[in-house]
Amino acid sequence: MTNAPLRAPLLEIYRSLETDIAAAAPVCELSGRCCRFREFGHTLFISRTEADLLLEEGLPAGAQIDDAGCPFQIGGLCTARERRPLGCRVFFCDPHYAGKGEALTEHYLGQLKQLHAATDTPWEYRPLHHFLREAAARPHP
Ligand code: SF4
Repeated sequence: MTNAPLRAPLLEIYRSLETDIAAAAPVCELSGRCCRFREFGHTLFISRTEADLLLEEGLPAGAQIDDAGCPFQIGGLCTARERRPLGCRVFFCDPHYAGKGEALTEHYLGQLKQLHAATDTPWEYRPLHHFLREAAARPHP
């Protein structure tokens, strides 16, 4: 369950980020590379608040939890698009976008950290699969 006071501001940060990404206009060719971490030498780090939002509707049925990929990618597509974390939103393979993702990450991670500080919420930032493992180990309601 997402920390209630953080949910709306987190979605607002994502909306603002989407505006900046639209302005940068990177091309996505739907290769799915961004979600196949091991294959492309990538580790997706996210905050606990983002993990709570991502996992708000639980894990996909039969989810495989490891550092190889994201179980929300099904049939090459993200099935958690509205709830996907910052690290997913800024990642594009488009060579014309090189460097912009890093700058957006720095800016919006700063906003996320400020939000945590303003609400006295501990900052916890770990690889995605750590949070997925926790969720998989939780008893079902
Ligand atoms: S949440 Fe969606 S975009 Fe992010 S890694 Fe998983 S499938 Fe890919």
